[in-house]
Amino acid sequence: MGKIRTLRGFRDILGEDIEKFRRIENVSRRYLELLGFTEIATPVLESTDLFIRSIGDATDIVEKEMFTFADLGGDSLTLRPEATAGIVRAYLQSGMYAKERISKLFTIGPMFRHERPQKGRFRQFHQVDVEVFGSNDPFVDAELLWMITLLLEDLGVKKYIMEVNSVGCKLCREGFRAMLVSYFETRKDRLCEDCLRRLDRNPLRIFDCKNLQCIEVSSGSPLLSDHLCTGCQDHFHGFLAYMDDFRIPVVVNKRLVRGLDYYTRTVFEITSDELGAQKAFTAGGRYDNLVEEMGGPETPAIGLAIGMERLALLVGNGELPRKPVCFFAYLGEKAKDYLAPMAKAFIDQGLSIRYSYEGKSLKSQMRYADSLGAGFVLILGDEEISKNVIIVRNMKNKDQFELPLDPPGIAVELRQRFH
Ligand SMILES: [Zn+2]
Ligand SMILES: [Zn+2]
Repeated sequence: MGKIRTLRGFRDILGEDIEKFRRIENVSRRYLELLGFTEIATPVLESTDLFIRSIGDATDIVEKEMFTFADLGGDSLTLRPEATAGIVRAYLQSGMYAKERISKLFTIGPMFRHERPQKGRFRQFHQVDVEVFGSNDPFVDAELLWMITLLLEDLGVKKYIMEVNSVGCKLCREGFRAMLVSYFETRKDRLCEDCLRRLDRNPLRIFDCKNLQCIEVSSGSPLLSDHLCTGCQDHFHGFLAYMDDFRIPVVVNKRLVRGLDYYTRTVFEITSDELGAQKAFTAGGRYDNLVEEMGGPETPAIGLAIGMERLALLVGNGELPRKPVCFFAYLGEKAKDYLAPMAKAFIDQGLSIRYSYEGKSLKSQMRYADSLGAGFVLILGDEEISKNVIIVRNMKNKDQFELPLDPPGIAVELRQRFH
């Protein structure tokens, strides 16, 4: 039997990659919690209807990209392709909407889409997903983007562009839709098959098409952002003014529409040229009607998702902080009796300690310590035990000194040297 491997588009995350993921997670958590967000974890498997109803049946995600299958009872189940739908379901199911005026939630975890794998794009990918329910104030929109700048700065990501746009509300969209249909109807012969279908069902989605000829056709079309109702215009200007208050530069991209039906008003994408073709690593927008459409009360909302795989490509390797490691090299059975007390003393002081299990020669233990990048090696043999001392060797400058053989005292002493 051949070796079993991961599925196409799936991968194991390990080594430096998982460290970057952990760091993105920790930094995100820190700023989200400072800003009053609480964590929620929803199942990765949900009823297929949830995604059809929320994301929209004319979208690429629902039409082509979902991992959908029937369970043994014949029910159609789907691995979540994004997080918002499940969070909206949970928000309604738990009655959260009746308990608090504003709900600020986040979740971190895997999503699944059956796409063609490429650089930074996997079929199982991971997101930090952030949602705010209960306010249509444009300050919320600006606050979310400000939060992203905080965590990008913390992660050392400097080169990125925030593109923003307004896709309006139901009111302005209805009038615009007719305008758009008549524009594309006269240019039908140049649209791809997908776009012809979109023209019937959701002409706004034609702007999402990657087909060069379609891009050319739509480049001359009227733009929704030029035909917003007064309410949506005020909202967008308010948002831009708050971004200015935060001193965050944004680029208004009037062609930016997001590939999901539920978006209203503010939409945004954060991109980096370092990522190649798939250059957006954070995206989101308002969805003021979705909660109501899912059977809840009228609840304006906004959300965003950070793609962890793509963001990880922007987080440098050298920037990962590593704590200096202490290595305990012991020689002989008597010295090994100090292994447990030493391990306990170091962990009590919050210090990382490593050691070999089999002891072996000093030379081989030193080699092991070196391969682990140990900052200090503690050396204990029969001679040191008889003198009631331990040798401490600084691996950087090869300095060597002795300390009294008292594990808690040694740990305290070394902790002071680390800080
Ligand atoms: Zn409007
Ligand atoms: Zn097209």
